[in-house]
Amino acid sequence: MPIHHFAKRLLSKSAWRAYNIYRKGLDYNAQFSRTVEILNAPRETIIAFQMESLERILQHAYHTTPYYRELIRAAHFDIYRVPPLEKQDIREQLDRLYSTAYTWKQRIQNTTGGSTGTPLTFYQDRNYWNQRNLSVYYFDQWAGWNFGEPQLVICGSLADFGGGEHRKHRFNNFWRNQYWLNGFQLTDPAMWAALDKMHQDQPQTILAYPFSLYQFAKFIFENGLTPFCKFKGIITSGEMLHPHYRALAEYVFKTKVYNRYGSREVGLIAMECAEGRMHINCRDLYLEIDSPDPYTEPGEILITQFNNYVMPFIRYRVGDVGLLSDEMCPCGNDLPILAELLGRTTATFRTRNGTLIHGSYFTEQFHDIDGVTQFQIIQESLRHCVLKVVRDEKWTETTRYYLVQSIQEALGTMVVVTVELVDEIPLPPSGKREYTISKVDSDIDDL
Ligand SMILES: [Zn+2]
Repeated sequence: MPIHHFAKRLLSKSAWRAYNIYRKGLDYNAQFSRTVEILNAPRETIIAFQMESLERILQHAYHTTPYYRELIRAAHFDIYRVPPLEKQDIREQLDRLYSTAYTWKQRIQNTTGGSTGTPLTFYQDRNYWNQRNLSVYYFDQWAGWNFGEPQLVICGSLADFGGGEHRKHRFNNFWRNQYWLNGFQLTDPAMWAALDKMHQDQPQTILAYPFSLYQFAKFIFENGLTPFCKFKGIITSGEMLHPHYRALAEYVFKTKVYNRYGSREVGLIAMECAEGRMHINCRDLYLEIDSPDPYTEPGEILITQFNNYVMPFIRYRVGDVGLLSDEMCPCGNDLPILAELLGRTTATFRTRNGTLIHGSYFTEQFHDIDGVTQFQIIQESLRHCVLKVVRDEKWTETTRYYLVQSIQEALGTMVVVTVELVDEIPLPPSGKREYTISKVDSDIDDL
């Protein structure tokens, strides 16, 4: 290994340590050891830990949140009788969901974006984030990640590009030893540059949106290139990992893809192990399947988060469908297994000049726009796009102008955008809400 690579790894490793001590306190090492201990524990220890954590969050919610006080009392403290928390409840009852034991300064705002569509604003606290990061560190090690090791990241969030955040972002990438590739707009020059950088930095792992990973793998494959890197693993996160995405990425990068399932509202929910099973993150949350028989009949996933005391999420309907398995995994880890995961789908748009734009680009762009309650973008053809909007009283002509302009900026100024103001956007038969639909052949098999 060249000396500057070695030095950078050491530097990055110490920076991780310093960051974690700053965020989580001097006993950070002990906290991480406890995390590992719980997640590696025998099944009965895990279940006992979950029951204690459930009881603790239920008591906390009952005593300090107006919303849950009524519901938990009516349910006689039986969690299974507490009605699931819907996204609509968060929108309408946010003020009653906060814990009165915390000040507003302790609330950290977060908003869903990406593939989840209609934006949702909610709050988490520092402890939630610390615990969430500890779990991510633990689970990412299953895929070969380690502190200080170089990583290629193919994700994207508007905050990551340009503006005041840019310098901070570059600094973070440096100490984290990460190299970022904008997953929203993977152009050929950007992918050539990423490949060069990959050969130079020799990342051990890749962290990517499944579709962006697929696009990068396809680019390498179609150009007859070979990545000269020895990867330990690839972590995908953020949307559905289709079998053909996985197959191509594993073939091109000569390593295994580990799927990580999570959501911004409740954190890391499950992670795939070396044996290809999704293990549930029982240290941070309790997962239920809303179905008469969660082992045979798929149902919606409900999550109770253990660590977010500022705004408890109890039986939160996260928006995905799953099934449980009672199998003990041959990998040796005793965390229960999520057998099937049927997640959200996100479309990919193609512009007239052939650039592919990930549907999350629009859901990120349109989050938090006054006047828009719900939306759906349908690319009818390369020249025509329909935007359906469920509006509220804040809607103005300026909103309409802004939305049309944003779509044209992405898809081309010649694209005609028809805005349809509707009362509701009905669910498709699958029950999975679609925020972005493209009827244009994106030149990618079965997308
Ligand atoms: Zn396993």
